Amino acid sequence: MTLSLGHKSPNGKSSSNNGSLNKSSLEIGSLEMQLLRKPIKNLHISVLPPDGRIRVSAPEKMTDTAVRMAVISRIPWIKKQQNDFAKQPRQSNRQMVNGECHYLWGKRYRLDVIERSGKHEIDVSSGKIQLHVSPTTSQENRALVLSEFYRQTLKERISRLLPHWQKELGIAPTAWGVKKMKTKWGSCNIEARRIWLNLELAKMPPECLEFVLVHELVHLLERKHNDRFKALMGTHLPDWRERRDRLNQMPLAHNNWSY
Ligand SMILES: [Zn+2]
Repeated sequence: MTLSLGHKSPNGKSSSNNGSLNKSSLEIGSLEMQLLRKPIKNLHISVLPPDGRIRVSAPEKMTDTAVRMAVISRIPWIKKQQNDFAKQPRQSNRQMVNGECHYLWGKRYRLDVIERSGKHEIDVSSGKIQLHVSPTTSQENRALVLSEFYRQTLKERISRLLPHWQKELGIAPTAWGVKKMKTKWGSCNIEARRIWLNLELAKMPPECLEFVLVHELVHLLERKHNDRFKALMGTHLPDWRERRDRLNQMPLAHNNWSY
């Protein structure tokens, strides 16, 4: 585990703790947490639902080093809490009935189920996702029709984004794909130069998809989430932190993206 010293304010600039700063962020290894300075006696750590965000409340007088040491000693507990959240189902089980809310590209849509014979089809217009299925189509198969629509829509958008980013970064994956992933928005097999993107990204704002895609592509240039990685992100996608935070704030977010 690597430890970066000094904590960072939310705008990403390093700042020293001079007592006037009462809200900032703290990075320990791959964990990013919110640090609040309060007039309290003991340090307190909270791991918050639904996505396991970490909030550390520390006495105003406690030094940064002491805060870090206290947090480090609690890392196994923090990870356990986060794992417990990750195991919980993130979405209520969908019934695939009229009036249900479903997301597409960060926007809420009302589901309209239109029963008819013939081809399964999905139309998206004016706040509605219209699902055309036959009256005998099971709930499970209705959900499948929708998830295939998400897959297709997501793949189309990735195909449109890739040429630009391959040129911008001067690299290309040998293969890419979309799949369901429980704990990650994206992944990169550096040796095989293969990238996977989470199907759930179709539900998130498009700028979040672009952030995850760029993040995974940058891994083809730098394996680790180190300073070089962050510098590459900063050069090519200057607002990557805002995009990441947006992703973490989405109601369907099931994983806190710490980089
Ligand atoms: Zn990464």
